[in-house]
Amino acid sequence: MRIDLYGGFGEKGRTSVGIASGGKNILLDVGIKVGATGREYYSAIDDAAIQKLDAVFISHAHEDHIGGLAWLQSRGFHGRIFMTAETFAEAAAMLNQYGEQDHVQAFAVAARKAELFTSGDTIDLGGLSVSTGRSGHVAGGVWFAASNGQKSAVYTADVVPDSAVLAMDPIPRCDLLVLDASYGDDAVSSEERIAAIRHWIAERPDGCLLPVPLSGKPLELMAILPERFAIHGSMREPVAAQIAAKGAFRTGVDALLAERLANALDWSEFDSLPDCPLMTFDGMGSAGPSVEAIGRAADQQYPILLTGHIPPNTPAAELFETQCAAWIRLPTHPTRQGNVAIWEGAGRPATLGHSCSLASLAALKQYLPALDDTARTGGHIDI
Ligand SMILES: [Zn+2]
Repeated sequence: MRIDLYGGFGEKGRTSVGIASGGKNILLDVGIKVGATGREYYSAIDDAAIQKLDAVFISHAHEDHIGGLAWLQSRGFHGRIFMTAETFAEAAAMLNQYGEQDHVQAFAVAARKAELFTSGDTIDLGGLSVSTGRSGHVAGGVWFAASNGQKSAVYTADVVPDSAVLAMDPIPRCDLLVLDASYGDDAVSSEERIAAIRHWIAERPDGCLLPVPLSGKPLELMAILPERFAIHGSMREPVAAQIAAKGAFRTGVDALLAERLANALDWSEFDSLPDCPLMTFDGMGSAGPSVEAIGRAADQQYPILLTGHIPPNTPAAELFETQCAAWIRLPTHPTRQGNVAIWEGAGRPATLGHSCSLASLAALKQYLPALDDTARTGGHIDI
């Protein structure tokens, strides 16, 4: 089995892993890299390899995992497309924001043939099978385990082992593990981060802006916000769809979130900034209502709290650098302890980490000796 590292290795963004075995070629995710330009925006897979692909599997609808799907089709991809119904529901909007318009129109045609699976399903391509499980990262998000009967490789995509909101299925034993190393060796627990966010918000009773991605993080935040909060009106329907995802949540959490969403205030660009926490998307100020909300908040010295990854060359990065925004991570990826536990549960296999710098990988390697901290985009591994 050959594993090609097409994106997200030694870098954050354009996450993409190729698996070739038994005469089959598949791609797990095809993201884009926010803040990059030109060819580096997309996965480092060449046209000949794209045209050989039998299938692409999408783990979830965040731009760094799906944003290149329309581009892939524009480069001659004619294989099968697999994703969950929840991912499919968000795909078009995400591609509209991060894809090129002529590619996106091509996707609208091809999207009709996307094959929907449910987390827990195994898809057998003949010679190569792909098992899936819940990621705990977003509703409908999954990890992938590719097996040829002799060897298996797990690509966790983005996972959250300790989410208080979403459930994650255990990662199976495997010969190669590709971990979500987004947070490097960060060992600060979710409980501590959540307490810090609650405290920061409580100290700003006149309101604050919380830019978030459209999926996943709004659910985690809604669970910890004070009773009175606002969301951009356009988020209500997609967030409600995420809450309706069957079997994605820890017991009772979906009912609680539905109630909180029903009580949330609607906000639009025609309103003044509210005297309570306000969620808008995306999380970086690169797209969606956050573009205008962030600009107005900065002008009016309305507090802004960033809770996710801050890519360079984005409005969020500029705000943070000029101290117009605070940052407290709300974990939606594994902590160091989370990744060590995944690795041990998988039988301590050879390991790679995606979505972080080589320096952060080296830091994580001190706690995870099987981690190859030199693997970078453009490389490959045989198992
Ligand atoms: Zn994600």
